[in-house]
This record gives sequence, structure tokens and C-alpha cells, in this order.
Amino acid sequence: MKMSIKVSAKPDKCPKCGGKVVEILYGEPTYEAFEASERGEIVLGGCCISIDGEGNLQSPDWQCIKCETQFKQE
Ligand SMILES: [Zn+2]
Repeated sequence: MKMSIKVSAKPDKCPKCGGKVVEILYGEPTYEAFEASERGEIVLGGCCISIDGEGNLQSPDWQCIKCETQFKQE
């Protein structure tokens, strides 16, 4: 299971591994978005947004491209 950390703003780099942190794009990706994900500039989050046991949306905003730790703005 991927780890999710709450942050107040987008981290410059991953606090766990120092990897690059990029934006997660949800929904059907455009060709440009797909290319950007291939270059490691964004992560494709897919069309499914998960919901936790209390009914809260669990859709992180950013992700480390190295260790896949996810970050959500508080
Ligand atoms: Zn990382």
C-alpha cells in the first residue's frame, strides 16, 4: 500500500528518498499528459478516485516518482 503524507504545500523533493515530487493528474489523460508522464514530469492517477471508510475523498495531489509516496495538501 502506498504511503500518503499530509503537507501544507508541494514538497520540493520527497522527504523519504529525496526523489522528485510531481503532480498527479486524474481523469482520462491527453496524449500530452501521457508523454509528460513518460518523461517523469507528472503521474497519471487514473479515473478512479478512492474514498476512505469515512467517506472522505482520498486523492493525493502529488507523488514521488521514485518511491511512490503520495502527498496530499491539508
Ligand atoms: Zn520518495
